[in-house]
Amino acid sequence: MLLQLIDELKPKNVGLVAVSKTRPVEQILELYNQGQRIFGENRAPEMKDKQEQLPKDIEWHMIGHLQKNKVKYIAPFVHMIHSVDDLELLKEIDKRAAQHDRCIDYLLQFHVATEQTKTGLSIEKAQEMLQSADFKALKNTRPCGVMGMATFTDDKSVVRKEFQKLKQIFDQIKQAHFEKEETFKEISMGMSGDYALAVEEGSTLVRIGSLLFGKR
Ligand SMILES: *Cc1c(COP(=O)(O)O)cnc(C)c1O
Repeated sequence: MLLQLIDELKPKNVGLVAVSKTRPVEQILELYNQGQRIFGENRAPEMKDKQEQLPKDIEWHMIGHLQKNKVKYIAPFVHMIHSVDDLELLKEIDKRAAQHDRCIDYLLQFHVATEQTKTGLSIEKAQEMLQSADFKALKNTRPCGVMGMATFTDDKSVVRKEFQKLKQIFDQIKQAHFEKEETFKEISMGMSGDYALAVEEGSTLVRIGSLLFGKR
């Protein structure tokens, strides 16, 4: 499945985050041995634990909601945080990155789904954050794009609209704040059930778990 997926995504320049939450390190190693290097986790202590046991050239992506007091677990090694939805969280990430003399890449997570439970910024909140003096003072974090999750539904037209909305948000934020920053380029959207749709709508990074590892 992995190689099939890569064959499908690579010509379109779409990156693959293999979502390994809840999976044992042995299963992660199987994909690693087939060449996969980017893995996604949604809990900081679990990511730290796996990072310690696995090869050091793995790029770890935090894809789940991150609490401020958990940033310290992953700050020494995390490659990208997809779930930044709050300035206080971002300040903590920046502070911890500085302590380790690193720069941490991140994405701004937006709320595009209809469910209340899905976290993420509104465009208004994001604008306010990006214009603040506190944001402009950050030195050890680098904004690389946006992330979003579609509503959990079989209605493809709903999902497509939400992906289109995230793409629009990306374009708007890019133009208003990061026009000259070449590294602000990622749109992280699409999971096992909806990644093909996400790619059609402009995803640059898909996050796929069950399709690769089987049902959780
Ligand atoms: C679990 C998870 C995924 C992967 O979901 P699958 O349906 O198993 O592909 C993607 N993104 C986030 C944020 C997740 O929590």
